[in-house]
Amino acid sequence: MSPIIKAGKKEIYPILFDIHYGQMKSINCYLYKNGDTLTLIDAGIDFPAFHDFFHGKLMEYGFTVHDIDQILLTHHHGDHTGMVNRILSQKTVPIYAHFLAIERLHLTKDYQLQKLDFFKQLYKDYGCLHLAGRRLAKIEKTLQESEQLRINAAIIPLQDGDIVNDFHVKAVPGHSPDSILFYDPQTKWLFAGDLVLYTGTTSALVDHDQEGQLLPTVMQYQQSLEICLQYDASMVFAGHQQPFVSLQEIGQRNMDRIAFQLQRIVNKIADGYDTALAIAFAIYGNRTEKEFSIIISEIIGYTLYAEMNGLITKEMHDDGWHFFIIN
Ligand SMILES: [Zn+2]
Repeated sequence: MSPIIKAGKKEIYPILFDIHYGQMKSINCYLYKNGDTLTLIDAGIDFPAFHDFFHGKLMEYGFTVHDIDQILLTHHHGDHTGMVNRILSQKTVPIYAHFLAIERLHLTKDYQLQKLDFFKQLYKDYGCLHLAGRRLAKIEKTLQESEQLRINAAIIPLQDGDIVNDFHVKAVPGHSPDSILFYDPQTKWLFAGDLVLYTGTTSALVDHDQEGQLLPTVMQYQQSLEICLQYDASMVFAGHQQPFVSLQEIGQRNMDRIAFQLQRIVNKIADGYDTALAIAFAIYGNRTEKEFSIIISEIIGYTLYAEMNGLITKEMHDDGWHFFIIN
């Protein structure tokens, strides 16, 4: 049984589902009991094995789905929202998420068409459209199946500075534009979503703003980590991997990782790898095709970050952007 964390009349019941995929190690959500109110923070993934695990954990802790009073989401990704529709089919509860998460969770047609256009143009601009077939097909498939996949409920929009239950809401974009953290100043518990993880960073995934323009996600991510490091947290509960106490140490490690990835990409450009794909293959070899979406997201994010830091510049050629070191 995962240990229950207590402070006064507040309790946390962790639901940590072990997985063996990449760096994530586990998919986490948490039940947070504050007096009579039971809040679910994030909602796991929509896999049968997770459903069983989730219900098993609830039972082990002495709860049922009907005890859940509200759901808070740290961001819109599918490994944080998977149980929402299932819970709603059994009980109507308020769902809270950042206002930018709403069109993403409702999978509005306008949003999805904008997303598809954005990624087509992005991959063309970065000279890798010929490898993007699977990624674009996935976006199109979601568009076709959005009726089944969307969250079927009104979502209460949150923004930076809001307070919900005893939680202070802080916007921490970077991993996704709609990432928020929840901080309880009484217990100093920090629910960080995918902003800061125990043994490694998640990615600052490439994304667009409401006008369909490329966001400076790595810079946002770096700034959000700095914001996070200002909290005097007693314990950090992340979306993956184990909860931890040492925010300063772990946060700094996440920052170092950003600096390392930046330097690695700038070094490749200095070595003459001057397109997104040349850099990707120089670093990741054949993994580039298999893990196209995540790897190219990293290269696009970090080349933009390097450019914003005055380290490189880029020129549009017939086959997309070429990068050059600024001496
Ligand atoms: Zn995520």
